[in-house]
Amino acid sequence: MRGVSETMMGIAWDTWRAESEGPTGIARRQQTRLAELVEFARSASPYYRRLYRDVPDVISDPRQLPRVGKRELMENFDDWVTDPHLTLAKLRSELLSDLSRLGSYYRGKYLVVTTSGTTGEPAVLVHDRFSWVVVNLVVRVRERRTLVRAVDVRAFLRRGLRAAALVAGGAHFAGVVLTESARRRAPIIARRVRVFSVLRPLADLVQELNDFQPTLLYGYPSAMLQLAAEQQAGRLRIRPVVAISSGENLSAVGRATIAAALGCRVTERYLSSEVPALTSQCRNGAFHVNTDWYILEPVDADYRPVPAGVTSHTVLVTNLANRVQPIIRYDLGDRVTVAASPCLCGSPFPAVTIEGRAGDLVSFGAPDGRTVTVVPLALGSVIEGTAGVRRFQAIRTGPQTLRLRLEVSAGADRARVQKTVEERLGSFFAAQGAGPVTIDHAEEPPRTDRGGKFRQVWSA
Ligand SMILES: [Zn+2]
Repeated sequence: MRGVSETMMGIAWDTWRAESEGPTGIARRQQTRLAELVEFARSASPYYRRLYRDVPDVISDPRQLPRVGKRELMENFDDWVTDPHLTLAKLRSELLSDLSRLGSYYRGKYLVVTTSGTTGEPAVLVHDRFSWVVVNLVVRVRERRTLVRAVDVRAFLRRGLRAAALVAGGAHFAGVVLTESARRRAPIIARRVRVFSVLRPLADLVQELNDFQPTLLYGYPSAMLQLAAEQQAGRLRIRPVVAISSGENLSAVGRATIAAALGCRVTERYLSSEVPALTSQCRNGAFHVNTDWYILEPVDADYRPVPAGVTSHTVLVTNLANRVQPIIRYDLGDRVTVAASPCLCGSPFPAVTIEGRAGDLVSFGAPDGRTVTVVPLALGSVIEGTAGVRRFQAIRTGPQTLRLRLEVSAGADRARVQKTVEERLGSFFAAQGAGPVTIDHAEEPPRTDRGGKFRQVWSA
């Protein structure tokens, strides 16, 4: 258990202090927390105990430790976690297969989310309560001037706070788990915060949003772009105060389109299920790494450190706040560039640019000749939500064709997985009013593009 001093107030105070103490104070916190995490992982995680056999007793630099990858960790899940009561099989049967338990704490202690991430490898991530306390406090302290401003708060007081989460439902993904977890806290929150799953037909979403009249939108920018078009067409009539984009990259054009059509301020959060409060956006729009609670190491294809100003091949991250499932030098798969010069905002935390997944919409033909646009993440969740799918890529090759590259799990029947994916996509396209769309199963497995980037859904 964590010490008494590290209570909510203690963490909030420490988060303030770290910022004012500057780089030396931040580095000291990082080093102490890393040493404690490594010691804990060695004693409570059989996986790390084996992995760190030859690692020195005292750790002062993350580079003294071997890196870890999603695939090995998932294959050793029961040894990876530090609570012997947790097993992947039990998590799947008792929680993940049950949508009525979305957002509930597993065994009263853990929030569990599933993800595919940008490398397309599905993962199951477990956070303890301490990890979420840190996330909430870091966001509140470091994004106090950017995420929601005083002027927005006054608008919420006047018009009421009603938040619509534009995320993918149908599985325990981070966006929906966090929203449902907030709703479980109190009925007053449950009435004011709702998930509008982007997997559902657009016409239904538009009607429900017109009834709900959200003042705050958060979630995928591609879904917001869809709503912007509906608002311009006069079918959607909402007046949000703020739209918080996360889960996908937001382009400058996308931001301007959403702001103009919905008449609201558009802000951005980088959210990763493994390291939820990795960065905070400052007044100048830069993302600063919260290096007192997370470590970010940009590396090249051979895992050598990459200097500031150079785009990395991938990035190794460490979550210093989560003990139940230690994430230490974990290959996240994202390409990042650390800023070469200090940010004008004066923050002591390094600024970074992260290339997340692209939020470009893909469009398909409808029987009546119209075009139906779908959110790439919605399409992706239908495919990766199919039992037996390990990794995939979906390429729109024409208005009525989708090429699929599938990698199936060990022991899965490929033909059966392909058939199930086809059926699920068929119902998805029908619900969206698109189709029929022919699924063309590719011979080749999923692969990275020439730049070394792994994309999941795009238009050829
Ligand atoms: Zn800044």
